[in-house]
Amino acid sequence: MTKEVPDRADVVVIGGGVIGLSAAYHLACAGSDVVLLEQDTFGSGSTCKAAGGVRAQFSDEVNVRLAQRSLEVFGRFEELYGQAIDLHRVGYLFLLDDAQDVADFERAVALQNSLGVPTRMIDPGEAGRLSPLISTEG
Ligand SMILES: Cc1cc2nc3c(=O)[nH]c(=O)nc-3n(C[C@H](O)[C@H](O)[C@H](O)COP(=O)(O)OP(=O)(O)OC[C@H]3O[C@@H](n4cnc5c(N)ncnc54)[C@H](O)[C@@H]3O)c2cc1C
Repeated sequence: MTKEVPDRADVVVIGGGVIGLSAAYHLACAGSDVVLLEQDTFGSGSTCKAAGGVRAQFSDEVNVRLAQRSLEVFGRFEELYGQAIDLHRVGYLFLLDDAQDVADFERAVALQNSLGVPTRMIDPGEAGRLSPLISTEG
């Protein structure tokens, strides 16, 4: 980390949130001379506001694959980087009450399953058993 900005670099990454920091880290590991510019402090944007939920249930292939790679790293984070992240694999439950959303999620689940993500559609009864504090009315 430096406060003096070098006058040249192979790559300049603008923004020290999780995406910019990860990109800069991996580029540096691959041998690039990287400069990262952050206007505030690292992680001060959306990154510090994230609730900490991690999942691979996305509706497009790129996001699913990116999430799968991220989850692999999160699972080995302490071993790789020496920092515990208190990862709990408790699943991720979406509650839907709209027929269009159900159709969209069914398509997304088929995509996720085709990429090896073990997601599934469940009924309100099973949702209530998995997460007893939710209301399944409606
Ligand atoms: C309330 C909330 C809850 C969320 N919960 C989750 C969650 O549970 N799980 C999840 O996966 N995601 C969650 N997200 C989304 C997640 O936080 C973002 O997708 C992620 O942090 C985006 O990272 P980023 O690096 O792209 O952006 P940011 O973290 O916003 O980083 C961008 C950085 O760029 C800097 N910057 C901008 N312009 C310039 C400039 N011109 N020069 C220099 N620096 C600049 C900013 O200061 C900032 O630090 C949540 C988001 C919010 C807001």
